[in-house]
Parts: sequence; structure tokens; C-alpha cells
Amino acid sequence: MSKRKPTRAVRIGKVQVGAGAPIVVQSMCATKTTDIDATVAQVHQLEEAGAGVVRIAVDNPKEAAALKEIRAQTTATLSVDLQENYKVANQVAPHVDKIRYNPGHLHHIEKRKTIPEKVAWLVDVAREHDVAIRIGVNCGSVAPAFLEKYPGDQMEALVQSTLYHCQLMEDLQYERFVVSLKDSDPAKVVEANTRFSQARPDVPLHLGVTEAGLPPDGVIKSRIAFEKLLANGVGDTIRVSLTLPNERKHEEVSAGFSILNDTQNGRFISVPDFGKGLNIISCPSCSRVENEKFVELAQEVKAMSAYAKQHDITIAVMGCRVNGPGETDDADLGLWCGPTTVNLKKKSVKLGHFKYDVVLDRLKDEIDRLIAERQLEATTGHTPPS
Ligand code: SF4
Repeated sequence: MSKRKPTRAVRIGKVQVGAGAPIVVQSMCATKTTDIDATVAQVHQLEEAGAGVVRIAVDNPKEAAALKEIRAQTTATLSVDLQENYKVANQVAPHVDKIRYNPGHLHHIEKRKTIPEKVAWLVDVAREHDVAIRIGVNCGSVAPAFLEKYPGDQMEALVQSTLYHCQLMEDLQYERFVVSLKDSDPAKVVEANTRFSQARPDVPLHLGVTEAGLPPDGVIKSRIAFEKLLANGVGDTIRVSLTLPNERKHEEVSAGFSILNDTQNGRFISVPDFGKGLNIISCPSCSRVENEKFVELAQEVKAMSAYAKQHDITIAVMGCRVNGPGETDDADLGLWCGPTTVNLKKKSVKLGHFKYDVVLDRLKDEIDRLIAERQLEATTGHTPPS
């Protein structure tokens, strides 16, 4: 393995990330944050498996109040995940060691404020409460301003958005931050993180393949990305995101250690055909998941669609409306969960929303239609209207 990039040290509670410290394996709770007992139990489950940092999603004051209770019941190093409502940061910061915000979601609220003003407020909160920050950028939710600036080049928009937020922090003389650049495609994760680390080799990187999906494929996708990056000295902390029932959530952590151990000992996998054929991506779920049937739905989608395994079709299954609409845009077919129905899409086109007990049949119709369209295109060169 190449020498690790000389990143700076960032303290997250009692954990150090970067500057050559051992690579930290992280994970995230998938329980409802307001279910304090279940979330404390899952924090312990993940911590016992070896997670150095455990993340919890918080979107509102009720969840922030629950977080205070959770903090009182564990000494684990905690991170909080903010998405559309970054304004709860000052309510959660007293109870955690790190705040993650998504630059692509800052525009949703307080529209009259500029992005630099919002980041300055987050930095003030972090300073006041002695917490670190993660700038967590996802391919499926790149800030609209950067997508407009780099039309047709989502990768450049992603990397430039991340660099911009690093600069905002540094203009405020704040350096206690790490960065993540995630995608569901391992090749894009490698490219984004490689480009970023070439531009900013000093900034610690949190590696992750988002929506990697169900094991074993989800583990393989993470392994493909992490191996390449870690072998080049890139990466200070990792998270393997897997769609798993709550009682098996600790498998994310054991998968992370297994990948680290193999990579550090020069054991790399070879999967020449990986990425060909049917590709199911699904989020790991979190407190925001809108129906507890989500994990089962992802498993059923995988089982039902197996007949199409020779076809290059990507199906995305997402747990909620926060990341569901955006992160399904690039998939051939996308499903994202609502409380009582599942939204179905073909690329960015909405096909409707369907009850949980009928959506699989509807999805199968769409898979069959897609296969037929591709066959027609291959034989006649004619692309049917969508
Ligand atoms: S898409 Fe899944 S992991 Fe992402 S916020 Fe929604 S439920 Fe959580």
C-alpha cells in the first residue's frame, strides 16, 4: 500500500482522523432517532463491532431532544447527520462530536441567506460546542449552482463544490473538518476522491460508496472503491453503507474492517465482470426511512428482478424523500419510499406512486418494457419514445 497522504489531524471527540492515525471505521444508526431505546441499543451494537464514530440522523427539534437523551446513555463518539434542515445544528452540537452537512441541501431553507452565511453559522456553532464538521457531498445531490456552472459534468461540479466549501471554512480560519465525496458507482467514488485529494492532499477524507445496496454486492462495491483509494494512500476513515435489517447493522463495521485488513495486507479482489448486467443500488436506511418495509422491499426487488441479470439495468431503491428523488435520477428505474406508497421513476421521469403490495408488479412491467425497448433499438436502431 502506498504511504498515506499527509493529511492534517482532525479531532472528533476522543478519536483522531488523519495525520497517519489508524483508519477509523464508521457506521450509522438506521433506527428512528426518536426511539431512544432502539437508537441507544444500535449505537452500542455498532460500537461493540468496532465503529469509532456512530452517526445519527436529526432533522427536527423533537429528534434533537431525543439525541440529548441518547447522549446521556452512551459514551460513544457520535456524529449527527444533517440534510435539508441544517438549522438544527445548534440544538444537536452540544450532544455530539461531529456534524455532517450536505452542501447540496443548504439551499432548501432560509433562501434569503447566502451559502457563505450559512456555512459561517455552522462554523460558529461547531466552534462554540467544540465539534468537528464533515462536508459530505453526494453525486445525487450536488448544489444546483455548481450543476449550472459545470453543465453536463456532474463530477467536476461535485469536486468543485467540495473545494469551494473547504475554502469557505478556511476563510473563517476553521480547519477542523473532513470531507466525503460519495456516489453509488465505485468508479466515480475513486475518480472523485482521487481528483479531490490531488487538489487538497492535506484534507482528511471519509470514504464511502453511497447506496451500495444489499450484501454481498454492496460489500464488493465498497471494496472495489476502497481498495483502489487506500492502495494509493487516500482515505482516513471509511463507512461501508449496506441495506440490512437493524439486527444485522453491525455487519457494516465488520465489512469495513475486513476490507481494511485485506488492503493493508495486499489482498485485493478481482471482479472483472463487476458492473456488467443488472445493478441494484439501495440506501442503507436511517431514521428518515418512511416505511419500515423498506429493507424488505429492497430484498424483494433484488429477488424479483434476478431474471434480468444479463441486462445492463440499474434499479435504485431509496428509503425516503430527502435523497430518494435526486439519487434515483441516474438509475434506469428508481423507487423511493413514501409512508404508504412507493414512488416509481424511469430515469428522471415520474411514473406514479403505488401501494407497497403492487409496486413490484409495476416494476416488473417496466423492466420488461425496458428490455423490449433495448432489443428493438439493437435490431432496428430505432429508439422508442419514452
Ligand atoms: S435515502 Fe435512505 S439513507 Fe438516505 S436519508 Fe433517506 S432513508 Fe436515510
